[in-house]
Amino acid sequence: MAKSIAVLTSGGDAPGMNAAVRSVVRAAMFRGMKVIGVFRGYNGLLNKDVKELDLRSVSDCINRGGTILYTARSEEMKTPEGIEKAAKNCKELGVDGLVVIGGDGSFRGARKLSLAGIPCVGIPGTIDNDISCSEYTVGFDTAMNTAMEMVDKIRDTAQSHDRCSVVEVMGRRCGDIALQTGIACGATSILVPEIEFDIERDVISKIYEQKSTGKKHFIIVVAEGVGGVEDLAKYIEKRTGIETRATILGHVQRGGSPTLRDRVIATAMGADAVRLLEKGIGNRVIALKDGKTVDYDILEALEMERKFDEQLYQTAMEVSI
Ligand code: ATP
Repeated sequence: MAKSIAVLTSGGDAPGMNAAVRSVVRAAMFRGMKVIGVFRGYNGLLNKDVKELDLRSVSDCINRGGTILYTARSEEMKTPEGIEKAAKNCKELGVDGLVVIGGDGSFRGARKLSLAGIPCVGIPGTIDNDISCSEYTVGFDTAMNTAMEMVDKIRDTAQSHDRCSVVEVMGRRCGDIALQTGIACGATSILVPEIEFDIERDVISKIYEQKSTGKKHFIIVVAEGVGGVEDLAKYIEKRTGIETRATILGHVQRGGSPTLRDRVIATAMGADAVRLLEKGIGNRVIALKDGKTVDYDILEALEMERKFDEQLYQTAMEVSI
C-alpha cells in the first residue's frame, strides 16, 4: 500500500496540467496519503527539488494555465545512471509511487523508473492529442478553442479585405488541432500530415471553385507537421491574384485558462492514477477510450498505432465547397 506519492509535470506544458496535479493531491489526501510535488519534471527528482503539498497548496489553480510545478526536459533521465539516481532519490524521499503528467517521452521515463522499482502512472498532458493509446490528451480542448478564437479574428480581417489567410496551428506530427479548428472556422482547405494532398487540387482549385460561387475571403488551415505557410501564401497569391497572408499562431495555443473539458478529464485521470498507486500498481498510463478513463501497460500504450479521424476529414472536405 502506497503511503506517500509524488507528482511531476514533464515535457511541454498544457492547460489542464494544474487540474491534474490538484486532483492527484486531493484524491491522495482523501485516502490519507502524503503527496510530494516535484519541480521541473524529472530534474526535480534528480536534484531532490521537491516540496510536500498540502490540501490548500493546490487551491486556485484549477482555472490556471501552465503548471504550478513547472516543467522541463532532462537529458540525464534518459541515461541508466539517471534512472538509477531518480529511483534512489525516490526511496530516500520515501516516495512509494509517482504520477507523471506529460507526453510519450515522459512515459518512457516513467516505464524505466517503474522497472527500477518505483511504481509510476502516466497521465497524457499535451495540447497535441498525439498519444496513440488515448483518444484525448489534457490541454487539447483548450488549445483548439484558442486556435478557433484566433482564426475567427483573422477571418474578420480577411473578410474586410477580401483576402486569403493561411494559418498554421500547432500539433507537431498530429493533424487533430488543424482538422477540428479548420472545421470550426469554415476553412476552405485543411492540410494535415496524415492525409496526402496536392496544392493545385486541394487548395488552388478549391479557391477558384469557391470564388466562382461568390466567396471572397478564404482561410487555409495548415498543421504544424506540414508547415511552409509563408511559401504557400506566396504561391496562392501568385496563382490566384488574391492578396494572401500567412500567420503562425504559435505558443498562444499552449496558454490560457483550461476549458471545462480539460479540467474535468484532468481531474478524472488524476484520481484514477492515485487509485492505481494506492494499490501499488505502476507502469500504467491513464487514457480515454470511448469517453471513459481506462489504463494500459506503458509499453503496450507506447506501441499502439495512432488513428486519424479520416471520416471527419472527409466531412470537412464535403462541407468546404
Ligand atoms: P511533449 O509531448 O510535450 O513533447 P514529452 O513527454 O513527449 O512531452 P519529451 O521531451 O519527449 O516530452 O520527454 C520529456 C522528458 O522525459 C525528457 O526530457 C526526459 O527527461 C524524459 N524522457 C524522454 N524520453 C526518455 C527515455 N527514452 N528514457 C527516459 N526518460 C525519457
